[in-house]
Amino acid sequence: MADIIDGKAFAAALRESIADGVADFVAKAGRKPGLAVVLVGEDAASQVYVRNKHKATIAAGMESFEYRLAADTSQAELLALVEALNADPAVDGILVQLPLPNGLDENAVIQTIDPDKDVDGFTTTSTGRLLTGLPGFVACTPLGCLMLLKDRLGDLSGKSAVVIGRSNIVGKPMAQLLLRESCTVTIAHSRTADLPAVVRGADIVVAAVGRPEMVKGDWLKPGATVIDVGINRVPAAEEGKTKLVGDVDFASASEVAGAITPVPGGVGPMTIACLLYNTLEAANRREGIA
Ligand code: NDP
Repeated sequence: MADIIDGKAFAAALRESIADGVADFVAKAGRKPGLAVVLVGEDAASQVYVRNKHKATIAAGMESFEYRLAADTSQAELLALVEALNADPAVDGILVQLPLPNGLDENAVIQTIDPDKDVDGFTTTSTGRLLTGLPGFVACTPLGCLMLLKDRLGDLSGKSAVVIGRSNIVGKPMAQLLLRESCTVTIAHSRTADLPAVVRGADIVVAAVGRPEMVKGDWLKPGATVIDVGINRVPAAEEGKTKLVGDVDFASASEVAGAITPVPGGVGPMTIACLLYNTLEAANRREGIA
């Protein structure tokens, strides 16, 4: 049976070390690191995410600035807020919760964020920095996956990695991070021919697809390390109930893999922890603290 990679415990330890880093920052800079989160509209899932981010930010000893705007906020008003946050010296990180309500241009809003405050790593400057090996901010979910992989495997150099999914927020930055670690990287997607055969060659498999339990145990190389990014809500055995499953069929995969992240409790908790990590990093860089 595979070892379980406990993302919840790893994220808790990371949050503790961030809180120590925050205390150091406060002693040196005389202020707290600040994270501004902008939520437009009433999307229920986004409200939960924003509430959780707020709580985690405060728990880490940082300042949390929350901006809740009405769904009918205009593009100009939203851009003006992002520009004001760019100029605000108390704000080190800016996150605009996606998706934005219809009628707002997500890309224009994201690209307005100062790349040095882009703690979500979504601006083209941040993705370009990742691509070219310059220091910058990396999207939180793939960054969390990389931390779990390095904790499990140490040096990743020379390993063969398959990333299933090529989204801008998970698959592509994940592949770039693995390339930066000198893995030999394959990016698979919906047009990949014979996906099981592609996956079977990999020491590392990262599944970011959004299809419940798609990756089966007999697709895996024995001993592979499997990172399951997927979060899918499916009907549970008990009528009327639902449960969360990943993109990997945990039951069969855990019989073949060397190590695997569970869903929930694997990658999920790493995302907010990495947001705090990026915010502390942004604050340290802005104050010139090593
Ligand atoms: P997207 O829908 O943006 O991308 C999915 C990718 O999977 C696409 O590149 C698509 O290929 C590929 N794909 C779809 N079907 C198949 C298939 N049958 N075979 C191979 N590839 C396929 O999703 P995201 O990247 O945003 O998210 C992926 C998953 O991760 C979701 O379950 C999401 O909920 C979860 N997630 C979890 C987070 C966390 O904190 N743990 C954070 C973000 C996402 P193509 O490009 O060809 O269409």
